[in-house]
Amino acid sequence: MRIVILGPPGAGKGSLAYLLKEELGISHISTGDILRDEIKNSTELGLQAQAYMKKGELVPDEIVLGIIETKFDSDIKVEQGYMLDGFPRTVNQAKGLDRILEKVKQPLDYVFYLESTEGVILSRLTGRRICRNCGALFHMTNKPPKQDGVCDHCGGETYQRTDDSVDTIKNRLNIYLESSLPVVEYYGEQGKIRKVDSDKEAEEVKEILLRTCNAHG
Ligand code: AMP
Repeated sequence: MRIVILGPPGAGKGSLAYLLKEELGISHISTGDILRDEIKNSTELGLQAQAYMKKGELVPDEIVLGIIETKFDSDIKVEQGYMLDGFPRTVNQAKGLDRILEKVKQPLDYVFYLESTEGVILSRLTGRRICRNCGALFHMTNKPPKQDGVCDHCGGETYQRTDDSVDTIKNRLNIYLESSLPVVEYYGEQGKIRKVDSDKEAEEVKEILLRTCNAHG
């Protein structure tokens, strides 16, 4: 299965992708995760991206498209399927993806659009904590780690993303409305969009999504 997961920050794209990866064994490509790795490793690309990410702004299209192109040229086993999370975030990126997919002759099967309300988004993002070591996700109210600051799975340190502060979240949401919502329209015109209510828990969203895929063959 080859899918794109769209939705505002805090819609649960990462949590859903984690569950789908376990269930379907397909590659999970998150441009946000790739960029954070680049920053951690102080690469040239990371240095370029850092200033944008800190403010919650979009990293320029040519940088992000370059990352995706490299992925498709190297480690994505396209024939086994993949899910793209956090990409494309602009219509220009969506058109760039179309060109890449045309080259590899592996068109998308579905584009899932996770719809969430603002209250749920804010609560999810401000409470989110992540393990620095294994990437496991926690929430300070709904799913706190058993020991404060320590990952239940691997004992790694949990942290809060610097762009999960209230002001930066608001900026990210505005940018989402301006630049990323048109991507939903773009795929809608191609008849590819499947809307899912993602105020629900990730496990339930996953079930709905899988049922949708089965129903459409
Ligand atoms: P995410 O982990 O998907 O919430 O992304 C975190 C940040 O990484 C975003 O706020 C952007 O600054 C940057 N980013 C991730 N993916 C993209 C993309 N496709 N286009 C531009 N910027 C991106």
